[in-house]
Amino acid sequence: MKQLVECSEALADPYGYAERLKAESRRKIVGTFCSYAPEEIIVAAGAHPLRLFGTGEKIRLAEAHLQSYCCSLVRGALEDALSDRLAFLDGVVFPHTCDSIQRLSDIWRLNIAHGFHLDLVLPVKLNTPSARRYLVDVLTRFREELGAKLGITITDADLRAAIGLYNRIRGALTRIYKLSGDRLGILKGSDLYTLTRASMIMDRRRLAPLLEGVISELERAPGGEAETERKRIFLSGGVCNHPDIYTVIEDAGGLVVGDDLCTGSRSFDGLIDAKAEPVAAIAERLLERVVCPAKHAGLTGRADHLVRLTREKRAQGVVFFLLKFCDPHAFDYPYLKEALDREGIPSIAVEVEDRLPADGQLRTRFEAFIEMI
Ligand code: SF4
Ligand code: SF4
Repeated sequence: MKQLVECSEALADPYGYAERLKAESRRKIVGTFCSYAPEEIIVAAGAHPLRLFGTGEKIRLAEAHLQSYCCSLVRGALEDALSDRLAFLDGVVFPHTCDSIQRLSDIWRLNIAHGFHLDLVLPVKLNTPSARRYLVDVLTRFREELGAKLGITITDADLRAAIGLYNRIRGALTRIYKLSGDRLGILKGSDLYTLTRASMIMDRRRLAPLLEGVISELERAPGGEAETERKRIFLSGGVCNHPDIYTVIEDAGGLVVGDDLCTGSRSFDGLIDAKAEPVAAIAERLLERVVCPAKHAGLTGRADHLVRLTREKRAQGVVFFLLKFCDPHAFDYPYLKEALDREGIPSIAVEVEDRLPADGQLRTRFEAFIEMI
């Protein structure tokens, strides 16, 4: 599919993609961390949000600033910045979520000279009326600060246009996930990864019609069974930098039928009310979408969501995909596993750093798991 080729090319060199976009469109490039960054406001400001994950280069310069027990995402992004691979950025936005991103923000402010630096101090507890008021205030201030940094005024009309664009993108990704879950095999798990990941990198104005084109092709595509001989696997966890995980699972006799990853379905979960006051509507989505482990909205929200999705997708087993040294996800793992155990849903945890364990080793573990379920 030609759309997948275009997305894969962007993923192969996200920084090169952003630099070319900047040269061609004269848009400012704003680096972001985490899906709590209000990208709609960045797009409304006429800038391009680029989610930073690090390129996986060897960590040398970042060692002097971050302990080796920080996650590879934070260390890798800092390494790229210190090595001037991110010199094309016009600014960076740090939503205050996990401890590692908060500390990265401080280190970045003190050590990286290029571009502006904006912090978004989000509420931690999300399910209170005061959190709602506070988040609207934080986003309103962010809108003003970003406008000042870029020398423009972000109007309500700009925000509404950006919200409309993001609703198209999130709606399209939701539809693509649904189609690939209903008609198994019309899209590989690694292709879903490619499309979702591209939604954090590519020009969003290009991406919306591209994803809609994918939907048209999938709807016309022949084949796609509702049932499969393979074991239906659900992926759960945080940031996944490893498209190969899908192939390893498939080679072991499984099929990924859904996920709740930060770089998967949680990144596009929930539409924004296009008729409401725009900043309040953006806040509402951030408050209402399924909570991340660095936030709080009740004691069982994440487990309830995981069990519900696993049931909905008729998954026979769950693979917890945990990034090494990612404390928020590691702390949540025992309670999520317990919730699955109570429901009789088998699970396995795989901890990875910036590289997957040797293919054979992982494959053997998955084969044993898939045989057991
Ligand atoms: S776990 Fe939360 S803080 Fe971390 S990347 Fe995911 S959404 Fe962001
Ligand atoms: S949530 Fe985990 S993976 Fe994301 S930045 Fe924090 S520690 Fe790293």
